[in-house]
Amino acid sequence: MYRSNTCGELRLSDRGKKVTLAGWVQRIRKMGSLNFIDLRDRYGITQLSADDNSPKEVLDIIANLGREYVIQVEGEVIERQSKNNKIPTGEIEIKLESINILNPAAIPPFTIEDQTDGGEDIRAKYRYLDLRRNPLKSALSLRHKIALETRKYLDEQSFMEIETPFLIKSTPEGARDFVVPSRMNPGEFYALPQSPQTFKQLLMVAGYDRYFQIVRCFRDEDLRADRQPEFTQIDCEMSFVEREDVLQMFEGLTKHLFKSVLNKEITEAFPRMSYDYAMEHYGSDKPDIRFEMQIQDISELVKGKGFSIFDQANYIGAISATGCAGYTRKQIDELTEWVKRPQIGAKGLVYIKLGDEIKSSVDKFYTPEDLQKIGNKLNAQKGDLILILCGEKKKTQTQLGALRLEMGNRLGLRDNSVYKPLWICDFPLLEWDDETQRFYAMHHPFTAPKPEDLDKFFSNNQSDLAEVKANAYDIVLNGNEIGGGSIRIHDNKIQKRMFEILGFSSEQAEYRFGFLMNAFKFGAPPHGGIAFGFDRLCALFGGQETIRDFIAFPKNNMGRDVMADSPSVIDDTQMEELFIKSTASKE
Ligand code: ASP
Repeated sequence: MYRSNTCGELRLSDRGKKVTLAGWVQRIRKMGSLNFIDLRDRYGITQLSADDNSPKEVLDIIANLGREYVIQVEGEVIERQSKNNKIPTGEIEIKLESINILNPAAIPPFTIEDQTDGGEDIRAKYRYLDLRRNPLKSALSLRHKIALETRKYLDEQSFMEIETPFLIKSTPEGARDFVVPSRMNPGEFYALPQSPQTFKQLLMVAGYDRYFQIVRCFRDEDLRADRQPEFTQIDCEMSFVEREDVLQMFEGLTKHLFKSVLNKEITEAFPRMSYDYAMEHYGSDKPDIRFEMQIQDISELVKGKGFSIFDQANYIGAISATGCAGYTRKQIDELTEWVKRPQIGAKGLVYIKLGDEIKSSVDKFYTPEDLQKIGNKLNAQKGDLILILCGEKKKTQTQLGALRLEMGNRLGLRDNSVYKPLWICDFPLLEWDDETQRFYAMHHPFTAPKPEDLDKFFSNNQSDLAEVKANAYDIVLNGNEIGGGSIRIHDNKIQKRMFEILGFSSEQAEYRFGFLMNAFKFGAPPHGGIAFGFDRLCALFGGQETIRDFIAFPKNNMGRDVMADSPSVIDDTQMEELFIKSTASKE
């Protein structure tokens, strides 16, 4: 028996017991003739002690111990002289009778402490050492708990967890596929799933009624900050449902997770907002509604007063920052620089200070009454600062959305312990791309148009098509999309028309999706579903911005595993077997 107890377990009530513990040496302290060792395992830390009266072998071994050595010890649980109320085992220590070194350890490249001295790169390279630290341990245990509670809730609701294949036929969902060459089928490739979308729909055709899977998905995208090429979804699908059924079910899941994992009770229904409203008033399809500061279109109030920049602008919008009328010249200049950064891309910033006097950067063109009218439109009070951007409508709204979030940060309105989930509904079905001169599915090609828009959907008029709304929804939490889904097309005519709109010839549609369309001939029930981004959900529940800490072995921003150093080149023989010619030059 390696151990009788873990390092997180023993209390004062265990006093007098003889125990055997095993773990890693966290720290060794010598105070005169007293020796203390902190022994660590996943469950906690227990203090070990030895003094002049301890066996000589014990003292000899202690003299040669190093950090992170793996040891096994025997001794008696005794009450501590100076207690540590910060850890649950802080009232006891183990009076050592024997020590056995199970494995020595090289000096770790950084300290295994909550606050480590190791930079990001070195910690990534030695991920298994980083994972020994408490912050990562609690992140992964939170992840485990969320997965467990998800399974409990969905099982209660009669969902079945069913695995779907990883080696599949390429099914585009808007991103690039990772492909896998097939040795047995020369020149042919599998793709790794971007999501199990088609399979979960086929499970509905097969009559499984309620499916879920906590599943890895793969997307070969240029990695923006905090994206992973492989990530996990809680993927779900239900039969014989309308949008309302799906929203209720997964609002229920979200509430269950808040309650069971964070002990937060959300009683009220999640607000619902249309995509158009979100874009118009939050400049984003994932609004952070922890604070108001809504964007308003002020075009009508400012045009025609001789200020040519506004007169020529296609859209003029504003937000009001509460209590910021006292901003100095310097602070305003700094904000102006902020909106002009390439990431935001505004040309300039106009302000109105609703102080004792009303002052603005466009006083020449507007009377105080004109400016007050803008204040009224924004519901601004005395003491507030109005910030105005103008330009092309969608772009400017997005810029205002970013500025709104920035002001929310500056004003401390985005508290990580406050959670405000909501649903965004009524997305456009299609997005026009100027470059390729074609429509793309905003969600994916299997999303149903809203029934009331079917006429437009079958029209050949491009502007009609652009107006068709999708029966799709996203769940948003504190400015992050945590999930999205839709009611699916289950009618072959509609699915065929969708492929046609997306520019697939019937042969192409047949080649890529023939299996799905064929299945729809054999009794497809009406169905719909959703997928939650599991990594992001975990990070948000953990009150963190980055998902990387919630994944045991993540990739870096270049999609590399810096610990194992992959991707890497493969042998020529492997390449030949796979019928791939080497084009990469090897140094
Ligand atoms: N498959 C979709 C996605 O990965 C989610 C869904 O429609 O259920 O975004």
